[in-house]
Amino acid sequence: MPNEPSSPSFFIDIDGVLYGGGVPTEKGPQVLEYLRERNFKFLLVTNTSRMTRTQIARKLLNLGYQVQEEEIFPTSTAAAKYLRKRFKKADCFVIGDNSLRDVLEEHGHRTFVEEEPADAIVIGQSKWADFRQIDIARRLVVNGAEVVALHRDLTWPDGDVTRIALGPIVAAMESVIDGPVTVIGKPEKKFFTAALQHAKFQREHTIMIGDSVQSDIRGAIDSGLKSLLVRTGNGTNECIPTDCGGELATIADLPDWCEKNLPKP
Ligand SMILES: [Mg+2]
Repeated sequence: MPNEPSSPSFFIDIDGVLYGGGVPTEKGPQVLEYLRERNFKFLLVTNTSRMTRTQIARKLLNLGYQVQEEEIFPTSTAAAKYLRKRFKKADCFVIGDNSLRDVLEEHGHRTFVEEEPADAIVIGQSKWADFRQIDIARRLVVNGAEVVALHRDLTWPDGDVTRIALGPIVAAMESVIDGPVTVIGKPEKKFFTAALQHAKFQREHTIMIGDSVQSDIRGAIDSGLKSLLVRTGNGTNECIPTDCGGELATIADLPDWCEKNLPKP
């Protein structure tokens, strides 16, 4: 059911917002309970491409968050939906983890990791991608395959360590092909549009809460959504854009923010 026109909905990023380095944000789980009590709809939107929705839900449950799979919208699901629209059933050369292959196959696509004719090269995060995969992918592109990247984030916070994310892999791919790369996840407008359609939220009444200025906040603003930056994860030292709707020290401050800014009817 779509929300009433004036009822706000929330997109909430996961990594760096609900947890960081495998540790849940203090009082984070109560925030989702608060949102349910106030009947505010939410969808967890994430660029994480190394877990299926089932695995993400299980991880969150272990950290104390009561979340259903349907309340999670990862970039891997968005990629699988994109490929369905584009090819119906796509033959996919996958650079990424087995969990990404699982998501694509659940949506009717065929996946493989050796060189054979492909409709698409799907690039997700893996522990370490290798140049052999880029070598194969380049030849497949020459023969007509489309490159679909789950996102192009440059880094990700692994607890106290910052590691490279997909951006450098996508850049390596781009350096040896002529055509464009289709990027699926945040901050792409088509990702936010797909998430709005998935959740049946209204663009002008949806507030994106995230820790990344580039992926979450900039992406949301450019897609016509409202936004709130949390000062955890990537957001600890970021400069807040002037057109961002505000900031929270952590997601635990969201109930107070709602009480002040979204008065009860
Ligand atoms: Mg994040």
